Parts: sequence; C-alpha cells; structure tokens
Amino acid sequence: METAELIWQNGELVPWDEAKTHVLSHGLHYGTGVFEGIRCYATERGPAVFRHREHLERLEKSAELYYLKLPFTAEELREATHELIRRNGLDSCYIRPLAYRGYGNLGLYATDAPIDVVVAAFPWGVYLGEEGTRHGIRARVSSWRGISGESLIPHAKATGQYLNSVLAKTEATAAGYDEAILLDTHGRVSEGSGENVFVVRDGVICTPPHTAAILDGITRNSVVQIATDLGYPIEERDIARAELYLADEVFLTGTAAELVPVREVDDHPLGEPGEITRVVQAKLQDALHGRAEEYLEWLDFVEVPTGRITPAA
Ligand code: PMP
Repeated sequence: METAELIWQNGELVPWDEAKTHVLSHGLHYGTGVFEGIRCYATERGPAVFRHREHLERLEKSAELYYLKLPFTAEELREATHELIRRNGLDSCYIRPLAYRGYGNLGLYATDAPIDVVVAAFPWGVYLGEEGTRHGIRARVSSWRGISGESLIPHAKATGQYLNSVLAKTEATAAGYDEAILLDTHGRVSEGSGENVFVVRDGVICTPPHTAAILDGITRNSVVQIATDLGYPIEERDIARAELYLADEVFLTGTAAELVPVREVDDHPLGEPGEITRVVQAKLQDALHGRAEEYLEWLDFVEVPTGRITPAA
C-alpha cells in the first residue's frame, strides 16, 4: 500500500510507522471495532472530503450499536482529519477512521477497556481498478450468504463483520472474478463485499431495501439522489438473483470503488456499461470532484495554504 507521513492516533499525529497498538487489544481478538471509508478529492478549490459529516455520523451510530463510547466527537474527528490531510500534504486520498476496544480486559464484557481511535489518510486509487470502472467488472454470486440482522448488525460498519466480506471476496477472486455479490439469508440480492448493488431493468433503476441486510451506503444514497434529479425512475425493492442475469445494466457503488459497472454476473454477459450507468457515473464523478454546482454541499473543503492547491484532475 502507499503510505503517508503521519497518522492521527488518540489525539496526536504520529509518524506512520509508529502508529502501533497492543497485541492484546480487544478489537484484535473479537472484532470489536467500527470504521469508515471516506474519500477526499482534488477540486479547483483544494482538497474536499465527500460527505464527511455523513460518514462521521455513521461512525458514531456504528459505535453506539456496538456499545463503544467514542472519546472524540464527530467535529473533533473532522478537524483532526483536515489537519492530517494538510500535514500529509495530500490533495486526494482515502481516509480510514477506526475506533476499537483497546487493551485492558480480554473478557467479552469489557466496557472498562479504553476505546482507541485512529485516522489514516493515504493515496489509494479506485478499488476495482480504472479498467473495471470504464468497461465493467465480472462479478460472481457468493456461496456465502451476507450477515443477517438476526446475528449481527448489517447497518453498522463494524470490523468483525468484514470476515463475511473477506470470505466472499476471497472466494470470488480465487475463482477469477473481480467482485462477489452476496444474497441475504432469504436468497434475495443484498450487496457486494464492499459495495451496494443497483440493477437497471426497462429503464427503472432498482436497489435492494434496508431489509435486505445492506449497509446504508453513502454512495448509494448519493446515486439515488442523482438518479432522481436526472429524472430516472428509481425503486428500492427486493431483487431476485435471476434479475442480475436478466438486467439491462448492473452497477455497484461504494466509497472505495465509486460507481463500477458490472459486465458479467456468474458468466452471464451484460455487455459494456449501458447508458443509464454511464450517465449516472459521469454525474457522480462531477459531484465527487466539485464540478456539479448542485452537489457542492456534499463537499467538506479542507483549508490549505493557497500556494498548495494543485489543479483538479
Ligand atoms: N456495503 C458494504 C458491505 C461496504 O463495506 C460498503 C463500503 N463502505 C458499502 C456497502 C458502500 O458504502 P459507502 O457508499 O458508504 O462507501
């Protein structure tokens, strides 16, 4: 991975290689952590964090759902992230805040152990590759079902829950596919291993509802808004597995991946990215990079010395 100079750890900026934790930290053993994946983009007005507040709100909610009391407010984390971006001299980057139960008690009921919080910001290109973003990726329906709300909390972005995503992604990659799509425990389409799913049929854009054990994706929410504003009919509804094969277009959305067309599911060809996918993808790109006036409110601009602003990509 590409590194940066500093990491913010429990209120201090420390050199990248010195951001360490105790091997008996609770989160390392039981997955008792919550995190976010956020992106900052180079814009004409300098670096801008996309939907920063929404991501930090989700972090707070994930923490609350797993009984983790965050020792920093969302505003403190926001300011820390701005400082980190400035001090690392980054224009565009991926941002990874993580809060986990730390060292002090290895029992399962460990509310007396501290909560450690880190924020890292470093360069990271689109998760599923430039080629995939342009021409589409090959997806496979996972043999693993997505986690259920009966055992865990799909709405929380919690570290331990990602064992499910790791199983699905590893299986798909080992079989030669780019990404896994998981079904929920009822066999309905749920989400990708790290993305939400959209299916276009007969001009209607469909995406699984919250009851399909999805993470309430911030890119998903942005795409629903963009598609609505562009006048496309959009429905949140249950999606059957076969609809992935019968679809006119399928795409995935996530902070790391942005909007990625799917050109094949389980070896059923869907072809090159369709028109709706391309139009929504282009508008999302405009929004991310500060080129869409109507979505500027989604950007949290980072104040940097004026000499440092590099032209937007
Ligand atoms: N589902 C899962 C399981 C994810 O990990 C992600 C990435 N955070 C998403 C969906 C997409 O969410 P967002 O658009 O907020 O990144």
